[in-house]
Amino acid sequence: MLSLQAIRHRYDDRTAARVEVLDLAAGEPALLLGPSGSGKTTLLHIAAGLLRPSEGLVRIGGQSLTALDDIALDRFRGRHVGIVFQRLHLIGSLTVLQNLLAAQYGAGLPVDIGHGRATLAALGIEAQADVLPARLSQGQAQRAAVARATVNRPQLIVADEPTASLDDRNADAVLNLLQAHARACEAALLIATHDARAKACIKRQITLEASA
Ligand code: ADP
Ligand code: ADP
Repeated sequence: MLSLQAIRHRYDDRTAARVEVLDLAAGEPALLLGPSGSGKTTLLHIAAGLLRPSEGLVRIGGQSLTALDDIALDRFRGRHVGIVFQRLHLIGSLTVLQNLLAAQYGAGLPVDIGHGRATLAALGIEAQADVLPARLSQGQAQRAAVARATVNRPQLIVADEPTASLDDRNADAVLNLLQAHARACEAALLIATHDARAKACIKRQITLEASA
């Protein structure tokens, strides 16, 4: 479902991320580990099609991202990739439900309020559908970000430190929800984290080395 080959990324002239081969099957969750600065966020953004690598090949569900121009890549990402950003990036002027509808609209999918509400219900935040993100607790906001990342039933979900600010109960819930979604929708799931709680529950682990 996700295939990375011979990836190098440089900002300026320093190599910031490097991976030879990374293949994730449909429904397969994996963790991206490594010290701070080893390139986890960079690699997640490359896998998600947010950032074009300096070198190497990225395929999602058989589609080569290199072959897409910027407009086609934006459209492909909206439709097939769900991203949980480290700082969430929920749109503050829209309600939680409207954030999901904006993701549908942005991907060129029909705006489906019923499916949006059902996605929130599956994450236990249906009562927060009509509130603004600033009113949410940290756990609720993290779930809202997961809801937005999964509402379009993407083939690939990437999540950057999705449990960093959560207590044990919310961290467990978010990890379980991400994995349940990956199983149900046969999506690949790549999570960058330092969190030992995630290391205990997801077997496949890819460790990046600190760059020289
Ligand atoms: P991690 O997520 O493992 O902490 P990052 O991918 O954020 O690693 O960063 C990898 C390296 O790339 C670091 O040395 C970081 O300083 C550098 N880096 C990250 N983003 C940029 C950027 N936009 N411009 C220049 N250097 C960057
Ligand atoms: P951090 O909290 O480490 O800065 P996030 O995971 O919150 O990282 O992501 C922020 C980064 O993602 C920014 O560097 C920005 O360039 C990129 N980014 C965020 N949203 C988008 C987007 N919609 N399209 C392209 N790049 C984005």
